[in-house]
Order: sequence, then structure tokens, then C-alpha cells
Amino acid sequence: MFMIYQKSSPLTIENIVNSKINNVDFKNLKFGHVFTDYMFECDYTEGSWVNPTIKPFGNLSISPASKVFHYGQAVFEGMKAYKDDFGKIWLFRPEENFKRINKSSKRLAIPEFPKELFFEALEKMLVLDKDWIKPGIGNSLYIRPFVIATQAEVSASPSSEYKFLILFSPAQAYYAGDVKVVIAEHYSRSADGGVGAAKAAGNYAAQFYPTNLAKEKGFHQIIWTDSKEHKFLEEAGTMNVFFRINDTLITAPVSDRILDGVTRNSLIALAKRDGIKVEERKITVDELKEASNNNTLKEIFGAGTAAVISPVIDFSHKNKVYHLPKIKESYATIFKSELLNIQHNNAEDSFGWRYPVK
Ligand SMILES: *Cc1c(COP(=O)(O)O)cnc(C)c1O
Repeated sequence: MFMIYQKSSPLTIENIVNSKINNVDFKNLKFGHVFTDYMFECDYTEGSWVNPTIKPFGNLSISPASKVFHYGQAVFEGMKAYKDDFGKIWLFRPEENFKRINKSSKRLAIPEFPKELFFEALEKMLVLDKDWIKPGIGNSLYIRPFVIATQAEVSASPSSEYKFLILFSPAQAYYAGDVKVVIAEHYSRSADGGVGAAKAAGNYAAQFYPTNLAKEKGFHQIIWTDSKEHKFLEEAGTMNVFFRINDTLITAPVSDRILDGVTRNSLIALAKRDGIKVEERKITVDELKEASNNNTLKEIFGAGTAAVISPVIDFSHKNKVYHLPKIKESYATIFKSELLNIQHNNAEDSFGWRYPVK
């Protein structure tokens, strides 16, 4: 599919009448629950993206026959904007998210979205919704770009029509609590040749049931293993996962089954900069259990945009629970604060990750 952004269809803005912002309690935000005043919507029809519009947040009206409802042809992204102490707005490595949504789209036979339009829409909407971004470490605006198949036809083939949308939701630093995880022995999140490396909407739906089973047993998340043998550790819930054995940080290499996370990638760079040994390699359940038994396993944590870093306190495999030690200067805490400081313009950005919004 070609990506054609017709200049005859420029971005239009429909202004809100009243802001909803005064109804929002910014001290008690539930993640992903409240949305800002605006949203971005753009249609794909007859081979091009048309009518790009920033408009008041509101319901869509689409046919119940839209392919997204029947075949799950949909992809999404998750990224954040931050406000520094001077009121300036920053994005964190947004090009990575932009590239990735198109990579995900390609895998789901969805036409790619033009870069220029993505950034124009995103930045203009950030300026319109700027009061929704609160300064202070941990506060952010969660950004959810997504694409859905809207052709009204239930034939099982790629849609000829789509909508590309962007929503904003104010977010607070949240502490996920003491996360207990169970290592997958039966269910899988992804498989070789599958869609695990894409942010395909259906990947998440497929995790809900096995995660509910884990919750019934008192765990919060699943550490996914390879679908063939359930031998290799791959991701934690919807996050990439890191293991610290002695002072070495280990994470699985990205593949068809493992999503190439921006947080993962950034943590690897920070760790290397800090002189910490990092290994991107396969790690087995047996190696983890052995490291736990001989007390060389120091930390396990998940890494992703929404929660940044989620430390794990217990993991379970074959009905046996293994506890993680309490660490004073944990890598999880160090990296989380290093990352947040870069994101909030409180620290030098030696990697050039920050992106200023004009
Ligand atoms: C989005 C996602 C991640 C984290 O990626 P980030 O770019 O760090 O937010 C990890 N695993 C899966 C399965 C994901 O969907």
C-alpha cells in the first residue's frame, strides 16, 4: 500500500466550547480513565489519508459491520508527553513510536500513516491540551495513537477504510505495588511468525483470560515464556522484562515474539552508560530458579511506557513460589529515576532522546 498524504486535505481544528479540565481531580487519576478535551481523527479511503481533524473528544459513529469488530484489525501505540518546571512540553523518543505503529500496521495489513501528518497533529493537539499536562516528576500525559479498520463489510479480508486516531489521557506516577508474577507453563502471548512483535490490539485480549487465572491464584501478572517449550523467559504482562543476576542485567533479545520496547531499549542504553553489564540473550526458567536458589538473583522488573518500571517481589513456577530479596540501591529505582529525570528535562539528555514541542 502506498502512503499518500494529499496536501489538498490539510489539518483542520474544531474548537471545544468548554474545557472539561475543572471536573478532573489530578491528584486521583486512574490510569487511562480520563481523556482530554481534544482528539485527532483521520480517515483512510480510496487509497489515501484524508480529512485530518483535531476535534472535541467524543464518540465515533461507525457501522457495526466495521471490520475492526469482527476481525480485530487494529493496532495502537503508547507514548507520553511531559511538562518541565518552566512549562515546556517534551516528548520522549516519539520517532520510535511513530516507526513502530507503522511497523505494527504493516503486519496487520493496514496502510502506513504519513510521518509529517502524525507529528503535526500530535504537536498541535498537545498545544491545545497543554493545561492537561502537569509538571512534576511522575506526572505525564499518556498518548494513545491507534488505527481501526472501518470498512462496513464482514468479508475476511483487509479493510479498504480505516481511522487513525490519537487520544490523550492525563497520568500520574503510579506504584504498581508489590508485583507477584507466575511463569507461564501453558498459555502463550505470542508465537514465532505471529503478531507478538506488533502492538496488535488482539494481543492484549488474548492475555486477559490467562491473567485472570493467575489473579485467582493471588498473582498480578504472567511472565510469558516461549510458546514451544515454555523454557525461555520473554515478557512480563504487557512489559518487557529484566533480570538482575549478581550485578548483570539480562533481558531477552527482541524477536517475532517479543515487542521491541522503547523503555527496554532506553534502559539498556542507560545501564551501559552507567557501566553496568547488560546481556541481551535468552534466559531460561531453570537459570532463574537456580539463581534464586543460590541467592544471586537480585531483581526482576518489567519495563514499559505506562508504568515505567515495575519491580517484582515474588515469582512462581510449577506451584513453587520464589521470593526476591529487598534491595536498597536497586537497579529498578536507579533507572526509573534516571529515565524520569531525562523525560522531565531535569537531567542532561546525552542520548538526544527528548523532543521539544513547539
Ligand atoms: C508496548 C509494549 C511493551 C513496552 O513498550 P514501550 O515502548 O517500552 O512502552 C512491551 N511489551 C509489549 C507486549 C507491549 O505491547
